[in-house]
Amino acid sequence: MSRHDSYPLFDMKQAKVPDDLCPVATEVSPMLPGDWRSMRPVVNRDKCVKCAVCWLYCPVQCVEEKAAWFDFNLKTCKGCGICANECPQRAITMIPEAT
Ligand code: SF4
Ligand code: SF4
Repeated sequence: MSRHDSYPLFDMKQAKVPDDLCPVATEVSPMLPGDWRSMRPVVNRDKCVKCAVCWLYCPVQCVEEKAAWFDFNLKTCKGCGICANECPQRAITMIPEAT
């Protein structure tokens, strides 16, 4: 098939994805953000006042409530740093993933 040919109409009744579509769009990847993140947040438990601002702003909802502070699910945290930027107590520091 040349790039000028059009694909036949997608058959919704059979709901079958054409075999020659880009595999990126048709295969589910098991990779999580923790597998590729370059920076991760660390909370200073002495500074955290449990205001939940980090929980409110995290775009992937990976901030978890602990008994006396808030912490992060590092499997789903993508290391964007929004929580550290928004924390009014400056209790969150972004550190390189390798450390
Ligand atoms: S925003 Fe800062 S002070 Fe507030 S809960 Fe999160 S880490 Fe603690
Ligand atoms: S670094 Fe980004 S993704 Fe990770 S906890 Fe903070 S706001 Fe959420």
